[in-house]
Formats: sequence, structure tokens, C-alpha cells
Amino acid sequence: MISTIREAEGPLNRVIHHSEGFGTTVLCCPVCGNDYNHVQRGYARIGTDNRENGTVAGLPVLEVGHGWRRSAVVIEFRCEGYEHLWRVVFQQHKGVEFCWYEIPEQEGEK
Ligand SMILES: [Zn+2]
Repeated sequence: MISTIREAEGPLNRVIHHSEGFGTTVLCCPVCGNDYNHVQRGYARIGTDNRENGTVAGLPVLEVGHGWRRSAVVIEFRCEGYEHLWRVVFQQHKGVEFCWYEIPEQEGEK
């Protein structure tokens, strides 16, 4: 299991920016704003309700949800500038997909 200690989270639109250089939208590190980020892994965060929490095809279950009944898809990134670890989460709630970024406790911090 992955550590689920979260330092901060916020709305996904804060990490989506238009890049003039690339001519399209890009994700930026929520800690330092760097637009060079590398996918580290994708996984499922399983919901807590056994009747509604299904798995996500093709993704391993590495975490248990934080009070959410249904499961979530998590994509983990590491920025190239300062190697900040951060995540984008798509959390299903009934028929709605909530989405946000998370900044987990960084390695070496305690
Ligand atoms: Zn960063």
C-alpha cells in the first residue's frame, strides 16, 4: 500500500495551464509550477462500500479510499525540476467524477 498521508490538495484546474510553447494545455506541478512532469504510475484507490466500490480494469488497487464509497483512479507524477511527487485523482461519486490534485508527504519529510 502507498502512504495516503496528504499534505495538500486542490481543484484540478489549478494545475492545468495553456502552454504557448507547446500550443496546448499541459499539467504543471502544484508545488513549483514546472510544466515538465513524468507519470510514475496509475492505480485504483478502492472505495469503502463493498456493494459499489468495483475495481478499475487494468489498474492495480494500491490504496483504500478516504471515506468514499466508490473507487477512484489515481495518476501519480514527479516533476522534473525539483522531483516533487503529486497526484491527479478522479473520484467517482454516484454518477459524478470529482477531480483534484494531491500533494502527498514528500520523501524525506516527516
Ligand atoms: Zn515541482
